[in-house]
Amino acid sequence: METQAVSFEAEIGFLRLVLAANDRENVLWPPENSEFAVKTLLKARGTVPSLDDAASIIGPEVLEALAPAIIQKRKLENAFLGYHSGCHYCGATDNLSRFDFALMRVEHSGRNWGEVAASIALSAVLLPVLGGGMLRVPGKSFNGAAVHLRLVVCKACQIKEGNFFGAFVLNEKKASKHPLWNELVSAGFTKFLSHDTLPDEFKFKHMVSMKL
Ligand SMILES: [Zn+2]
Repeated sequence: METQAVSFEAEIGFLRLVLAANDRENVLWPPENSEFAVKTLLKARGTVPSLDDAASIIGPEVLEALAPAIIQKRKLENAFLGYHSGCHYCGATDNLSRFDFALMRVEHSGRNWGEVAASIALSAVLLPVLGGGMLRVPGKSFNGAAVHLRLVVCKACQIKEGNFFGAFVLNEKKASKHPLWNELVSAGFTKFLSHDTLPDEFKFKHMVSMKL
């Protein structure tokens, strides 16, 4: 049997699963992500490797090089998704609901990531990470990259901000309450996409991407 060289991408994917599976307190990965990681590892390897096991599988120096970037990216995703966040209107921590949306940067010819990078308010260190976390969104009239975000709203604010019928319907104005809205808009992510307007394949699976 031929031995296949383990690709860099595969190592990242593997390590990400190990980190998520071992995050038993769900500090960085929500329970559903950790459970998914446990299941995937059990299916692929018959066991859930510890971090020490992972170090012996991919090499301790590879683990040390990759783990901080994976964790950094996860923290950024958590900020996008409001994980562990209180209400984005009032800060309340009870009776929270989360509303999915995306911000898209429409791609123009002659414009590249580097130019926009200079203006982004998020740390420059996070930029490559951010790039890897984005979804490609093919559109009929536009192409671009989209960032998946979640607005966290408590019950009281849903009622206060609700429409005539008392229903809280997420729109662009409400979504702008997201704490990273201004940074992303200034980085060119100006097109608001409601959950329903995204193609099916981007309807926000919990594991947005296994890649870094
Ligand atoms: Zn609130």
